[in-house]
Amino acid sequence: MSQRISLVGWPSMTEPLAVAFANTRSSAGRDRIATVDRLRAWARPWPALAACVPRMPAGELPDVLALRDATQTVLHRIAAGESPPAAELEFATWPGLARAEFRVRPAAGGVAVDDAGPEAVRQLLSRAVVDFLLGQQLTDLRRCEGGGCHKVFVSARADRRWCDSRVCGNRARVAAHARRSR
Ligand SMILES: [Zn+2]
Repeated sequence: MSQRISLVGWPSMTEPLAVAFANTRSSAGRDRIATVDRLRAWARPWPALAACVPRMPAGELPDVLALRDATQTVLHRIAAGESPPAAELEFATWPGLARAEFRVRPAAGGVAVDDAGPEAVRQLLSRAVVDFLLGQQLTDLRRCEGGGCHKVFVSARADRRWCDSRVCGNRARVAAHARRSR
């Protein structure tokens, strides 16, 4: 698997963190946060998260990945118009509902995160999941129709079918063309 950090698949950096987190497993064989180094690279656009990752014990990574898998299951079910499974929903949200292992302090032009404990990364990510599940964008959550693609996206447009038209949309167009020419 390629270790290259690719910008393809980032249609927008304003994607909600919960959606970006679920999408770190974009297909069965692709995991963007499979190692601590890759988690650190992925977290870079979110300053609070990026500040907590270096202080995370490496032993936390399997729990972060399990949180991601539960989040993805929950979002897939909701995108399909179904109820999320209770066990995965609880697993994905409980760290975000727990008392935070970090504090927020003023910083130039914004805030910074202080006193991050070993579970701070999981808490920050799970908080983003809780916020997303309770927020307005949830009704516009959709799942990419690309074969084998696990990504979800937020779109008010009912006719948007792909996470990224240059990737999954293009692949579907190529496949349709191949079918027609046979
Ligand atoms: Zn896709």
